[in-house]
Amino acid sequence: MQISTNTSLKPYHSFASDEHAKFFTNIINEQDVVAVSNWAKENNTPILIIGSGTNMLFTTNFNGLVAKMEIMGIKKITETASDVILEVGAGENWHHFVMYCVHKGWGGLENLSLIPGTVGASPIQNIGAYGVEVEACINSVTAFDLLNGAFTTLKNEACLFKYRSSLFKQQPNRYIITSIQFQLKKQPILKTDYGVIRDVLHEKNIKNPSLADISNAIIQIRSNKLPDPSKIGNAGSFFKNPTISIDKYNLLKENFPGLIAYPISDIEYKIAAGWLIETCGWKGVKKGNVGCYEKQALVIVSYGIISGKEVYDFSAEIIQTVFEKFDIQLEREVNVY
Ligand SMILES: Cc1cc2nc3c(=O)[nH]c(=O)nc-3n(C[C@H](O)[C@H](O)[C@H](O)COP(=O)(O)OP(=O)(O)OC[C@H]3O[C@@H](n4cnc5c(N)ncnc54)[C@H](O)[C@@H]3O)c2cc1C
Repeated sequence: MQISTNTSLKPYHSFASDEHAKFFTNIINEQDVVAVSNWAKENNTPILIIGSGTNMLFTTNFNGLVAKMEIMGIKKITETASDVILEVGAGENWHHFVMYCVHKGWGGLENLSLIPGTVGASPIQNIGAYGVEVEACINSVTAFDLLNGAFTTLKNEACLFKYRSSLFKQQPNRYIITSIQFQLKKQPILKTDYGVIRDVLHEKNIKNPSLADISNAIIQIRSNKLPDPSKIGNAGSFFKNPTISIDKYNLLKENFPGLIAYPISDIEYKIAAGWLIETCGWKGVKKGNVGCYEKQALVIVSYGIISGKEVYDFSAEIIQTVFEKFDIQLEREVNVY
């Protein structure tokens, strides 16, 4: 294991601000994971795992060891008439893996096409888009438990998946995820509930869509709506969609008839954070090189050289104005360091 010092994190995360890691290394196999753990223990240093850095914001230098996850490999574990189980290295690129499954005709992940990042990060916030969350296809997650100093395999139920959350998100410094087992369907049931997916299929006159048709539709929708992080710095949705009580929802709906929300239980509604932010007038607003994306208010973007602190301060202003107008506290989806 090679460790560099005072390494700029700029190339390693999608906001591309120039904070530094006191120590930096790469993880290419399980032995490296153990070495990272031992080294950090001996040097009394915190560890931060980085995948593609598309869900991170550094507001200051990281005073510890940043380890970039690069364990690769896709291995078939079992195949039956109906299902395939694959074990995938945490460092694999998420979208490439989804494309691999789509081309093989194995369904379940096609609605998650074009989400940036690594496979290993996918369970952390239980990535989701267009009516699908990754938890639906995860059989188990293998990770090194830094608390017990041993590898462990957690079955789906043990991962405590929720909306943009999991055990790994709740205990952020405990696990280094090394591989994931996915279960995919050979006769998949396609999820086209989202109107926008149906619209694209209709436009293309596709009546019996294949996995590839769904994936291509999602890629088209996302490419039109979201900034490409390799061109414009961003971390996707910066905030989570907040949950409010039905009473609060009824009150808000009376005052703001255009409110975008949907029920998630008999007593709670999920509110579109993008609508709250847009209604406060933030969409397209720019301060210095930081801005609220003109096509999607939920995304904070950088238009040039920025510091992570500037992005953080900009997001704090958004949180404040949303709170003042709606009495709703927005929570950041992005991991802040
Ligand atoms: C344009 C854009 C669109 C996006 N769209 C979506 C979307 O539709 N839905 C969605 O859910 N997300 C979306 N995201 C967010 C992001 O793509 C996902 O959260 C993705 O899973 C992050 O992967 P990553 O490898 O970049 O993780 P990183 O940003 O590198 O890390 C994220 C967190 O996971 C931890 N981590 C990463 N890998 C490991 C590991 N192997 N073991 C332990 N901890 C680890 C990190 O320490 C950090 O806390 C979007 C981001 C962008 C930029």
